[in-house]
Amino acid sequence: MTKNEPIYPIRTAAKLLNISVHTLRMYEKEHLIIPFKKSTSHRLYSQSDIDRIKCIRSAINEDKISINGIKTIYSMMPCWEVMNCSKKDRSNCSAYLLHSGPCWAVKGDDTICASKDCRKCSVYQDYGECGSIKKFIRNKLTEKE
Ligand code: SF4
Repeated sequence: MTKNEPIYPIRTAAKLLNISVHTLRMYEKEHLIIPFKKSTSHRLYSQSDIDRIKCIRSAINEDKISINGIKTIYSMMPCWEVMNCSKKDRSNCSAYLLHSGPCWAVKGDDTICASKDCRKCSVYQDYGECGSIKKFIRNKLTEKE
């Protein structure tokens, strides 16, 4: 089983994180997490989701970053580099042009990501842990040196 396998029902995830179900739902509504949605509309969470939420909790409680602040940090992730978007793709994409939220929250219906399942995307799966966005940017800059 991989870390991205959705296995925990919402009550179990909330218990593991020592938070309320309401808080988990709020994080989803704010686009900080993308839980797996079963056909019954019940949510399932993976170990990666749990790790991501621990980082979110730490940013809120220890670093005093607001939810809007976390969304802005996520918006700084250069998803266009990961997805290898062309200049034309970028010119039409809110994820490239704006900084109001993560790419999966602002992507437009007419972009190359429109029909993609963001939960399965490397941008969501690989850069949810604390420090991973900065590490990605640092590696990119080192490549250019
Ligand atoms: S598929 Fe979704 S998560 Fe991946 S870059 Fe596009 S909008 Fe972002």
